[in-house]
Amino acid sequence: MKAQQLMSLLIAVVAVVGMALAGAVQAVAQTPDNGAIAAKYVSNGNAVRLGNATKSLRCSLLQGGCYRDYQKGSIYWSPASGAHIVLGAIAARWAKSKWERGLLGYPISDENCTLISRGCVQQYQGGNIYWQSSVGAHSIHGGIGSKWGQMGYERSPLGFPVGEENCAGAPVSCIQSFLGGTIAWKAGVGVSVNPNAGSFGTVVNKRRPNTPINRTPPDLVWAGSQLMRREAATQMAQLISGASAEGVPITLVSGFRSYATQARLYNNYVWQYGQALADTISARPGFSEHQTGLVMDIGTPNGACALQACFVNTPAGQFAAANAWRYGFIVRYPQGYDSITGYTFEPWHLRYVGVRAATDMHNRGFKTLEQYFGLPAAPKY
Ligand SMILES: [Zn+2]
Repeated sequence: MKAQQLMSLLIAVVAVVGMALAGAVQAVAQTPDNGAIAAKYVSNGNAVRLGNATKSLRCSLLQGGCYRDYQKGSIYWSPASGAHIVLGAIAARWAKSKWERGLLGYPISDENCTLISRGCVQQYQGGNIYWQSSVGAHSIHGGIGSKWGQMGYERSPLGFPVGEENCAGAPVSCIQSFLGGTIAWKAGVGVSVNPNAGSFGTVVNKRRPNTPINRTPPDLVWAGSQLMRREAATQMAQLISGASAEGVPITLVSGFRSYATQARLYNNYVWQYGQALADTISARPGFSEHQTGLVMDIGTPNGACALQACFVNTPAGQFAAANAWRYGFIVRYPQGYDSITGYTFEPWHLRYVGVRAATDMHNRGFKTLEQYFGLPAAPKY
């Protein structure tokens, strides 16, 4: 063999080995998800949910991620987040947020559709996407998301998000709407919650009248001798039977009061004592929490300490102070918080906020709705 022939052979051998090596490298490149997407596809009936693949595996996404599209959805994988299915309205919302390149990042769970009202949630690296049929899919993250979470997520008085966070200005401020109100965040100020008029989180005080000012709630029912909104009435009946089971009788003194009733009451006080004094003992018409239908003044059968601070020392007052939260009520005007609520201690005035919020306030030590929702104090009109 001549040197020239040997050289050609050597070149050919190198070429073949080189092609084999390139093939091996390519084979590795075709499965950079280590089979995680394929494994996800064949587990738990996912193949049926997703249908057939419509494209081959695509990789080289951010942080070494891969995805594959199927007829009804996709599977996304990255080393940090694992393999998860995205589909339907939640997938569409994620796409609007620029997929893994947006602030949500990769999914870190599949969607979970066991929420109230048949809602679903999917967790992402940078936040969550919630979906419910009547409100659609919306993402939640950051300070607003944390506040909503602290309040009990979709079970809070705010319910599901109905839009995306909307930010503007410098210093930047953001706001997001929920079924029951809004949460706002402002740089350097923090988070505040503004419940809608009419929701169980409604805040009525000397700065926040009922809206419209002569509003009548839609679902008033009789709670014994008094009117309350349906859910509040049911829970008040539970509270009374709970107290009764412990040998504590509780009576109902005053529930819903209409704008007209409050106007008569207040005008009477003004006529008797003048406006300055009247304002300290009676709410102006439109500003009474009783008009929300979420309030009950309670008493004892013998009338002891009726509508007086000493009511707190009666068995009924003690039961309410210790247990009202279990039924979704708070003592709305606690002792020592006049400068926030605008009212002196009223241990008989129970306000329904829902079990979730009342429990959250109890567990985290919030005494007033103003503080819980991050709203301004309302000592005066
Ligand atoms: Zn009251």
